[in-house]
Amino acid sequence: MAFNSADINAFKDIWVFCEQRNGELMNTDFELISEGRKLADERGSQLVGILLGHNVEGLAKELGGYGADKVIVCDDPELEVYTTDAYTKVICDAAMDLKPEVILLGASNIGRDLGPRCAARLNTGLTADCTHLDIDMDKYVNFLETSSTLDLSNTKFDMEDVNLKMTRPAFGGHLMATIICPRFRPCMSTVRPGVMKKAPFSQERADACVVEKYPVALAKDDIKTQVLDVVKEAKQIVDLIGADVIVSVGRGIGKDIQKGIELAGQLADAFGGGVVGGSRVTIDSGWLSADHQVGQTGKTVHPKVYVALGISGAIQHKAGMQDSELIIAVNKDETAPIFEIADYGITGDLFKVVPLMIDAIKAA
Ligand code: FAD
Repeated sequence: MAFNSADINAFKDIWVFCEQRNGELMNTDFELISEGRKLADERGSQLVGILLGHNVEGLAKELGGYGADKVIVCDDPELEVYTTDAYTKVICDAAMDLKPEVILLGASNIGRDLGPRCAARLNTGLTADCTHLDIDMDKYVNFLETSSTLDLSNTKFDMEDVNLKMTRPAFGGHLMATIICPRFRPCMSTVRPGVMKKAPFSQERADACVVEKYPVALAKDDIKTQVLDVVKEAKQIVDLIGADVIVSVGRGIGKDIQKGIELAGQLADAFGGGVVGGSRVTIDSGWLSADHQVGQTGKTVHPKVYVALGISGAIQHKAGMQDSELIIAVNKDETAPIFEIADYGITGDLFKVVPLMIDAIKAA
């Protein structure tokens, strides 16, 4: 069974797929619930978190604290570890039954895998990697304003005219495309982690959140893959999204890569608990691992302090860091585009400037 445009007025509620791993919710869940709350208020609909796993019901109220009116819990031992087959089946069953108008997922590895599968099975569209969401209510407001003069018995507002507007970078980040999904429901979107702001937690909201169990009906034939073992990567992954201070390096460290990364680390420590990031060049060249990449195809960050060392400020890099609270750039080229968005710009050789910065911070 798949949906079609004839069903469109039957769809309601905004759903957020809430990802958990080993019984822990992800930061993206709170960001999406907070953003979903704003959309639901604007749209006048209910915000529902959908949580899959095994013995995860205890996590539901926390989602309520960030704005979910209701959390639907799908509990089954087969959902303890993520598999595409099982998660797709369960979400699609629930969506076909309960008919959400919107489904939002984080653009994590799981969200990027699960979202398109569900969209294909539900016969709807998905906009990937969104950086902004909005509800287009103009036609509805216009309808309400004009309907007082109309005979309402003969008029009905067509919900096709209320759409989720999903914005994402296109053409290598050179323009922002706003996309709507007018004739199909649910509207589906994956949203970049770190872009949406997390609302403050409210205990009152958490207490008011309704938690509902949804029956899981998984047959043997529904699951074509089996997870035998989960091997965690031994190395420490850098947490760019949660960091207050990020010192990023670019191709400018090229004449002494080791020293450049060391200096960035020392500067990050001098600020107190900062972490090292990098432009794509540093990842493509193998100087830093992929979890360090900031930018359009890396992480979107908004730390309190972002330091760009030897980074030119290409549009794709800026897309990931331009919303940082304070930007400091060090570049030997005074015309480098990074200076256009920097709060403090230092023209000079980073290998000479950074030690002076470290000394100055320590002396302060
Ligand atoms: P460069 O542009 O080469 O700049 C190096 C800078 O270092 C120069 O400004 C130079 O003046 C300065 N410099 C050199 N030596 C010194 C020194 N000793 N002291 C001080 N300054 C010095 N890029 C990203 O970063 N993140 C992304 O997510 C990303 N995604 C992309 C997606 C697409 C589809 C495409 C097409 C590109 C993407 N890029 C991304 C690549 C991006 O276009 C740039 O190529 C990249 O950001 C440039 O990295 P850079 O600033 O380190 O290097």
